[in-house]
Amino acid sequence: MKRIGLLGGSFNPAHRGHRRLSLHAIRALGLDEVWWLVSPGNPLKPVKGMAPFPARMASARAMARRAPIRPSAIEQRLKTRYTADTLAKLPRLYPKHRFIWLMGADNLAQFHRWERWRDIARQVPIAVIARPGYDGNARASPAMSWLRRAVRPAGQAKNWTCWRLPALVMLRFRPDPTSATRLRAADPSWHRQFSSSPQTSTSSVKP
Ligand code: ATP
Repeated sequence: MKRIGLLGGSFNPAHRGHRRLSLHAIRALGLDEVWWLVSPGNPLKPVKGMAPFPARMASARAMARRAPIRPSAIEQRLKTRYTADTLAKLPRLYPKHRFIWLMGADNLAQFHRWERWRDIARQVPIAVIARPGYDGNARASPAMSWLRRAVRPAGQAKNWTCWRLPALVMLRFRPDPTSATRLRAADPSWHRQFSSSPQTSTSSVKP
């Protein structure tokens, strides 16, 4: 059995914050790998300013180098737009793997806007990673009021494969303030460095 953390995002671009939170989650949750599910098109994010998928995949590969992190184009291959649909397909594709969903506190704050979010919480345990500026909103969020009784102590985080669902654990590491929004503001053409890269093909990417 492999223990896999799933981090969904636009990765527009991938950055140090994604890498750090993944490495911390690997340690805290006893994971074998973290898969970065690079979204072909996040329904909650504006299309304007979204770099082409191959460039975002290439930036994720560069940021994941030499770590047990696997950038994945699985949502593009499965043609799933919503996390709930991706998660519904994973057990059949990877029957020997166990999955936990990772998200930053900003995502928990707006989790109630995700398509069938309660189903997501019934499908996999969730680990929330503190993010500067968002933790208060996350704790006060509509999703959190529904999930409050599902919160597990961080000290038991490694037991997540045994938890009854829904289950949520808050992981606290040294917060990292990096955000893709800020990186894009500093360099709107960041994706140009990846656009001619031979690494941009997605066909050979597994998972
Ligand atoms: P944007 O600024 O464009 O919204 P982002 O930096 O939040 O992008 P995403 O690709 O949307 O990056 O994030 C993927 C996941 O990583 C989300 O769950 C998000 O909450 C989390 N995340 C990103 N950066 C951090 C960070 N610095 N600390 C904690 N979680 C983070």
